[in-house]
Amino acid sequence: MGRVRNSIIRSGIPSVDYSVNPYLGCGFGCRFCYAIFMSRFAGRKPEEWGSFAYPKEGFIETLERELVRNGSRYRGKRILIGTVMDPYQPIESRYGLTRETLKVFRKYNPGAHLEILTRSSLVLRDADLLRELNVRVGMSLSIIRREHFREVEPKSPPVEVRMETLSKLKEKGIRVYGFVAPVFPDAPDILEEVLGELKRRGIDAPLFELLSPGRNPALRNIPAYSRWVRLVRTPGIFDRFQMIIRRYFPHSRIIRHSWR
Ligand code: SF4
Repeated sequence: MGRVRNSIIRSGIPSVDYSVNPYLGCGFGCRFCYAIFMSRFAGRKPEEWGSFAYPKEGFIETLERELVRNGSRYRGKRILIGTVMDPYQPIESRYGLTRETLKVFRKYNPGAHLEILTRSSLVLRDADLLRELNVRVGMSLSIIRREHFREVEPKSPPVEVRMETLSKLKEKGIRVYGFVAPVFPDAPDILEEVLGELKRRGIDAPLFELLSPGRNPALRNIPAYSRWVRLVRTPGIFDRFQMIIRRYFPHSRIIRHSWR
């Protein structure tokens, strides 16, 4: 891995213009993670995903240079921090590249339309900076039965902690939302619980994503995998989940993947 050439790159994600990822790899290692393909850029095997994370060399200097030279290019554009890694994964406590990234935006492009997507309460550390930026913080909220949680998300903070983090950020005047994903097919009751909790706390959930098992082969090693596949193929299951979601958040978008 040499020095980075671009710290801010065009994004292929719908409704996101640019993505910013200060680390290569993600220490949370979720078994459903679609970013597993990033392993090859670190010279690692896909099955090693979750066991490595590196700060990108020259990341901050490159970002700074780009915003100084081409700042107008990003005006009004939606920039998502955290498309192939979590910006507040454990390594951030040591290197602080996400915090430095926010400082660079504050200095050279304070009006940029930033979004942060994380699973970690470490984001609270940066509340001071976030208040000064045009930013929305999204927290990924997985809908998984409790008995499977650590099989599927071995190292990320519990969903209850993420929910609390959203409330604390909101209290500090920071715009927040829940990204409810992935939704496992055997957890409609957990979905109801989480959506009820979001409503109670006055937090929006504009986007849902149902589980896509094909993206990460690590999911297949979990004993419940074949049951999940069977359930997702059950006729009418999508309608059932959609009905629950619509009851709480009628205007949200639901991303659904084919399991065939
Ligand atoms: S936190 Fe996000 S990027 Fe990191 S492993 Fe989990 S899903 Fe992937």
